[in-house]
Amino acid sequence: MFELDNPTSLQQISLPIFSENKVEVLMKREDLIDSEISGNKWRKLKYNLLEAQDQGYSTILTFGGAYSNHIAATAAACKRYGFKSIGIIRGDELNAQSNTTLEQAAANGMDLQFISRAAYQNRSDVTWLQTLTKKHEAFIVPEGGTNALALRGVQELVDEITVDFDTILCPVGTGGTFSGIVNGIKDHQRAIGISSLKGAKYLEDLIGELTTASSSWELIHDYHFGGYAKFDSHLIKFINQFYLETQIPLDPIYTGKMMYGLIDMLKKGKIPSSSRLICVHTGGLQGIIGFNQLHNDLLKI
Ligand SMILES: *Cc1c(COP(=O)(O)O)cnc(C)c1O
Repeated sequence: MFELDNPTSLQQISLPIFSENKVEVLMKREDLIDSEISGNKWRKLKYNLLEAQDQGYSTILTFGGAYSNHIAATAAACKRYGFKSIGIIRGDELNAQSNTTLEQAAANGMDLQFISRAAYQNRSDVTWLQTLTKKHEAFIVPEGGTNALALRGVQELVDEITVDFDTILCPVGTGGTFSGIVNGIKDHQRAIGISSLKGAKYLEDLIGELTTASSSWELIHDYHFGGYAKFDSHLIKFINQFYLETQIPLDPIYTGKMMYGLIDMLKKGKIPSSSRLICVHTGGLQGIIGFNQLHNDLLKI
């Protein structure tokens, strides 16, 4: 279970803005790990599913929103590796036909349970989680998959990078992926996280708690475009243009904002020249279909 035949590739991105600023940009293509168990979600699920198996559980229960990449990945991974899966979904107005993410999760055998947004707020409540564990005899993976086991999986992506580098960038939601990367880098390297959430200043403390390494890191809060899943015409234009020039698809929630942020920081002189940068493409491409259904096929990918 969960072996990667080949570490995902590092792809050099050649854009004029990079050569003008004398930076070398390599993208770690985690989006290519698997079409369904994508990117960072694969990394985060790996040790969770192994632990569930060790503890003798045959059901995984987790939480997510209507378009969640984590729900999509968990459903697919559970199907592939022989677990039953239960997804507690935020929004009691939804059903398994509401969008392709939920449709696909249901098709992968996930038992979708829709709850009100108010009830969903209890997703970290210990007593409720204990009740759910007992009721479903399930191993619980938190929303977004972020816990210590997830960080261990993410750290492996850093270990796979065989070239030296100065800076590594990744998008940030719950902060789990970024924390795993911070744990994996060496003393002379630094990590930059681009937050997809508006004003999520609690993330600094949370990442401080989650990380065990003393590596240098920084979160950037300037490229959320109004908040989680918010966007504007500049972001859409950028993602479409990036795809035309590189043939690499970016998603509008995470990786699009990361690459937009990187290029803007370069233009503003915030990235030292002569550096080698690694951008982690965390995947999330399944969300493009749902995004285009909601927003008139804005993304030409
Ligand atoms: C979930 C997700 C993230 C955010 O990861 P966290 O560990 O929650 O910070 C980033 N990129 C993509 C594509 C994702 O699906």
